[in-house]
Amino acid sequence: MRDVYLDYNGSAPLDPRVAEVMLPILAEGVGNASAAHQFGRRQAAAVSLAREEVAGLVGGRPSDVVFTAGATEANNLTLRGVIEGADTDRSRILVSAVEHASVSEAAGWLSEQGLAKLDLIPVSAGGFVDPDVVEALISPEVLLVSVMAANSETGVLNPVGEIAERVHAVGALFHCDATQLVGRLPFDVESVGADFVSLSGHKICGPGGVGAMIGTRASLRHLQPIIHGGGHERGLRSGSLNVAGIVGLGAAARIGAAERESESRRVADLRDKFIAALKARLPGVHDNGDVTKRLPNTANLRFAGADAEAVLANMHPVAASMGSACSSGAIEPSAVLLAMGLSREAAFESVRFSLGRFTTAQEIDAAAARVVTAVEYVLAVTQEDG
Ligand code: PMP
Repeated sequence: MRDVYLDYNGSAPLDPRVAEVMLPILAEGVGNASAAHQFGRRQAAAVSLAREEVAGLVGGRPSDVVFTAGATEANNLTLRGVIEGADTDRSRILVSAVEHASVSEAAGWLSEQGLAKLDLIPVSAGGFVDPDVVEALISPEVLLVSVMAANSETGVLNPVGEIAERVHAVGALFHCDATQLVGRLPFDVESVGADFVSLSGHKICGPGGVGAMIGTRASLRHLQPIIHGGGHERGLRSGSLNVAGIVGLGAAARIGAAERESESRRVADLRDKFIAALKARLPGVHDNGDVTKRLPNTANLRFAGADAEAVLANMHPVAASMGSACSSGAIEPSAVLLAMGLSREAAFESVRFSLGRFTTAQEIDAAAARVVTAVEYVLAVTQEDG
């Protein structure tokens, strides 16, 4: 059996059409994009087109796109940059309990440094943030609220437009990490009412190590940079631009905007067939998270009684992941699943499958059969041991 890649939320493969646009820049693109000579100007023109393509995917003005080295940097820039640039006495930040580490750890660091007072916004059993809960927690001391558009582990969507309204009602700023949602479902900076949005190249079949933070004219005014230097990207992110990466991100955004709808329909259909096949052949398969509002490509499944690490090890050559993080040698259960109220045991039995642009129906049939065998094997061994 051939390798089957079902870990698109971890990192999606580079679209060959994106590689095609990047190659000439890598091979022949000469010059620093800030240089005044013709070589530099050509590089700058390519970056400028990419800025438009990114704004074409998520809305906002191209000039409010700040290129970064990925969503991790975009998230750090927003959280730290807002706190350090604040010209008010507000210093409370609210962050949902299921954010990516690049939001939650950045917020935790700000709190440890005494720069902000941090409160976590709990999520429902379905894994989403309820706007009423945000409203109950919010106060005039809040400077920034950060809630992701879609969760990377469960795919569950948050009602970010409604949340932004409640946030703006007290004069606070709203940051939305849209890394997993853009290119899969429609997102518009203005209609959501986001003051800052983060996204990443390698989640939308673009290159890794490049991403963007999209702000607004007003929100960027007070933002402080976290990287100081030559004043690139309106002084918000110094460092000679990664032109090939940025051009690749632009191409991925353009393709994503054009193909999102048809691709999402096709991928959701495959995902649903995959889940149905597993449920038909295995006992104790449970969906984690609200299946009525989630990304079209993601399934987070619990195989009751089967340790997820053992399942993953036995389902080779099918690649998926578990939401747990391995830190200092100890495997911890997924913080996202725990925040939704799952027990540690249930979290340790959960696997995330994420599909995407190049997933085929044949792969899904083969993967389902392989996963069934793996789970059956793990259940049998567990029973013997027990
Ligand atoms: N936010 C979310 C929701 C993510 O899923 C990820 C990647 N796993 C990131 C941020 C970080 O993105 P990057 O790899 O570009 O730093």
